[in-house]
Amino acid sequence: MTTGVDEIRDRAQAAAPAVSTSKANKVIYVTGYGRSGSTLLDILLGHGAGIVSVGELDWLHRDWSESVCSCGSTYEECPFWSPVGARIRDSVGALGPDELDRNLRRVESILSLPALLTRTLPPRWTKAFRAQVRAQLDAIAEVGSGDAVLDSSKSAREAAGRALALERLVGITVKRIHLVRDGRAVLWSARRGPNYRSGKSTSNEWPRFSFWRLRTIAGWVLANAIAALDAKMAPEGHALRVHYEDLVKHPHRELERIGSFIGRDLTPVRHRIERGESFPVGHKTGGNRLLDGGPVRLRADQEWEKRLSRGDHLLFWALAGAAAFGLGYRWRPR
Ligand SMILES: [Zn+2]
Repeated sequence: MTTGVDEIRDRAQAAAPAVSTSKANKVIYVTGYGRSGSTLLDILLGHGAGIVSVGELDWLHRDWSESVCSCGSTYEECPFWSPVGARIRDSVGALGPDELDRNLRRVESILSLPALLTRTLPPRWTKAFRAQVRAQLDAIAEVGSGDAVLDSSKSAREAAGRALALERLVGITVKRIHLVRDGRAVLWSARRGPNYRSGKSTSNEWPRFSFWRLRTIAGWVLANAIAALDAKMAPEGHALRVHYEDLVKHPHRELERIGSFIGRDLTPVRHRIERGESFPVGHKTGGNRLLDGGPVRLRADQEWEKRLSRGDHLLFWALAGAAAFGLGYRWRPR
């Protein structure tokens, strides 16, 4: 039997806004390799209802004193990150950036993945991780006035277990978007210059490190393998694969698919693309060269199809063909 009080409470709950502005209820996590368009996806989804997109969140502590926010301010002066930092300090104490970073890395690194999967990480590590990340996500949700935090930390070796750790140790819902891009386009992007995280690279010079092709191809295979493993470990319905090529060629269809997956209406984002409008970058950490160019527009980048050498095509297909095939790529561009 329901009482009048119950009815009033039920009505109040039904009328309450779906978005809480004090707690993070969900993380939307972009997995995969860098240079795959995650910054673009991050910026697009950041304009969805209740979504606060922050770039590569796992880089925040390392960047804090060494780099600047994508708005151009230092983190201490940025109108978004400054209050976020203050709330984190209120919650976990004034830990230095090195300690904050170590608390993440020792849990998220690929070396810790077996212990994370078998739930045998030292309790001291998991406790520190949980307190720190929970404080960070709630601070971002509160300052950004949303309940879903979009984190594009992806799946490099040092963040290999991050999505799983957020889910298992912090106890928050994690919706993974495995963003994958043709490895040959990634190879072409690497050829054009180092993808400096601070966004300072404008160099068109050939990257100077040796074996850059092997590094890029190996990195692409590994990060996508980690993302695929993570998707297998995720609860049913918590992982979605998106091809970058589909996103830029059919943004309406893909954004509808993504919106349905994350439970958010992305119609305003689709309308904005229809009108040909640009998207302000906002306050992102750990971005790449996109962040230097101001507002972002959606455009297909097919330069590699004509300009990547036949040798690089062959090298990629010889080394990573099986992985590429498994991810839905063929010799002809998608
Ligand atoms: Zn900023």
